[in-house]
Amino acid sequence: MKKKKVIWIGNIAIGGDYPIVIQSMTNTKTKDIEATISQIRDLTLAGAQVVRLAILDELDAMSIEKIKAQVQVPIVADIHFDYKLAILAVQSGADKIRINPGNIGSDAHLKAVVAICKEKGIPIRIGINSGSLPHDIYETYGVTPIAFEVCMKRYVELIESFDFFNLVLSVKATDIETTIEANRMLNQHFDYPIHIGLTESGTIHSGTIRSSYALGTLLHEGIGQTIRVSLTGNPLDEIPVAKEILSMFSLYQKPTLISCPTCGRTNYQMEPIVKEIETFLNTLHSPLKVAIMGCAVNGPGEAKDADIGIAGGHHEALLFKKGTIIRKIPEEDIIVVLKEEILKMIENHASPM
Ligand code: SF4
Repeated sequence: MKKKKVIWIGNIAIGGDYPIVIQSMTNTKTKDIEATISQIRDLTLAGAQVVRLAILDELDAMSIEKIKAQVQVPIVADIHFDYKLAILAVQSGADKIRINPGNIGSDAHLKAVVAICKEKGIPIRIGINSGSLPHDIYETYGVTPIAFEVCMKRYVELIESFDFFNLVLSVKATDIETTIEANRMLNQHFDYPIHIGLTESGTIHSGTIRSSYALGTLLHEGIGQTIRVSLTGNPLDEIPVAKEILSMFSLYQKPTLISCPTCGRTNYQMEPIVKEIETFLNTLHSPLKVAIMGCAVNGPGEAKDADIGIAGGHHEALLFKKGTIIRKIPEEDIIVVLKEEILKMIENHASPM
């Protein structure tokens, strides 16, 4: 497959041979600088490598400078309708902007936005959503993959005519099949990196399933250089889902958690331990396999390919490594001991981060 052009978002590169980058978007008011910085930090700790902010007015745009002074992660400004806001966001230090050329104003306005991005050396993501296709294209093609292709071709050619080639492309529809097919077309026709996502994918439950299918299909075909899982609610929930999807295709190193469904042999409170350890594992960047099993009768054997695990006894658990039982842990110490042992194991054996 032909490699995509390398594009830099701050100090993060996408395209070429670079790994797929996980993005997220804050849901704070950007002008609430404290809240926005706090959420950016949480997202970064969770694993976001690029964070997008909604820019709705001048105050939002000007806040970028203050926010950037306190965070390391590259910041993308998301702007609709007002080309002056896009210019202000770039002047304020955005590392990339996301616009839909169809709603940013006249060609002259778009040219002015492109000029400032060129001057500052930052990329533009052309983002087309199903709700924002130009009228003539919508009338001719409806919301179809070909409509996205025709629309993207129009915008790319226009921006390239301004002698600007620092682009990232994205097309998103709520309909999964349209999103997949439209991205296939983008991938075939353009050398620019593609940002993949499913717009309005839903709540954590349905959105995770829908995104896994749509984004998983694309990643399986080698499509996508950056990824965002959009879920209704706390954006922090998006990151583990993105990691999980990438790890299914060995595109991200994260621990695997194995847990049994439990049965009548289970004699300890396993579910809270699974939840806590799962959250903990989501903060780690290692291919370790961890097992939490309901009983000592079958647990260590069933999970013998796990690097480390526990199997429940009566108000205690057995700690095992690669199927070999190491020692007993009292129930109240299980979480602390297991976390310590996992960290020790990563330090000693796991591949570098
Ligand atoms: S590991 Fe033990 S508790 Fe879990 S399902 Fe198997 S037999 Fe039941």
